[in-house]
Amino acid sequence: MTENSPLSPGSTIGILGGGQLGRMLAMSAAQLGFRVIGYAPAGDNVAASACNDFFENGWGDTTALSVFASQCDVVTWEFENVPLSAVEAIPSSLLAANPKSLQIAQDRLNEKRFVEELGARCAPYMRVESDDDFATALDRVGTPGILKTARDGYDGKGQWRINSAHEAEGVRFPGRPCIYEGMVNFEAEFSVILARAADGTIRIWDSSANTHDGGMLVKSIIPAGPVVEAQINAAQDIARQTANALQYVGVLTLEFFATRDGPVFNEMAPRVHNSGHWTIEGAATSQFENHIRAICGLPLGGTETRFASIDMRNIVGEDALNAHDILAEEGEPHLHLYGKREAREGRKMGHVTRVSHD
Ligand code: AMP
Repeated sequence: MTENSPLSPGSTIGILGGGQLGRMLAMSAAQLGFRVIGYAPAGDNVAASACNDFFENGWGDTTALSVFASQCDVVTWEFENVPLSAVEAIPSSLLAANPKSLQIAQDRLNEKRFVEELGARCAPYMRVESDDDFATALDRVGTPGILKTARDGYDGKGQWRINSAHEAEGVRFPGRPCIYEGMVNFEAEFSVILARAADGTIRIWDSSANTHDGGMLVKSIIPAGPVVEAQINAAQDIARQTANALQYVGVLTLEFFATRDGPVFNEMAPRVHNSGHWTIEGAATSQFENHIRAICGLPLGGTETRFASIDMRNIVGEDALNAHDILAEEGEPHLHLYGKREAREGRKMGHVTRVSHD
């Protein structure tokens, strides 16, 4: 797919990854008349039921990856931990976005350095690759802080919070590359979610105020409030520069802490994001639709917020079992369940978005 040749209806989009983000991308793709083929290792691939076809093969299965690619007109990903080797097995002419964005986002150290070079501020951090490094980092960065695995962490997994030097004694270097960062005393958290088209056009959604618990997103609220709103321009500027520096195509998310001294960059995701689920009902065009539009060379849709207030909450673990009760609520609860087979503790099972004109 090139900048000048939008994909026609009936073309096939390949999605690497089989989770809820892939499922919602596939739904948007179907609405625009595209076929979708998913690819992920065997598991509870909830995207599969929204796809026309689904490959359940390992990331190392280059034969399956080539068969998958041969059936696609464009290929995208729905999570950032797809092994780079799998992405590199796909002809680069089919890849919607530069795999460099994945390479950077897969490693916390890389992403902080990359975005710092563009002028962003990060919490103080140090690379930790041994017990000695950990001791040095504790000494230089101090406590409180968080030890995070450099790769493969998500929803607070692979993270150890260390509130005091005493607590640090109980935490061991986990034996794989980590980053130790100082705890940020933030007033709020927010994300900047943008869509960038191949011609460089960028559309940015309003930022929601995001609340996390134990590292996992609990809710996203619009309006984000004055503390966040005062910092959005500076954060958007960094996000725009990041997208341009990567010649990125699709939806890109950067997460920030709003502090007294301005926005502090936390991490980026080269994909649609949980904190953008509110855009399905709450914005002129959802993050999922604009991602599909961007990767297929179609004009981006408007990102304006359509309501005075929006409240998106994740439905986690066994709460999903009674989620249909939400439908009896007054107002306009928009329920999304992801069709996961097992409501395990801490597992994102769905979300509900409540919108209001008040
Ligand atoms: P992460 O996986 O890095 O996005 O971290 C998940 C969540 O943990 C963040 O959204 C914050 O709520 C919290 N967190 C992570 N790093 C820090 C930090 N350096 N200071 C304060 N809170 C943090």
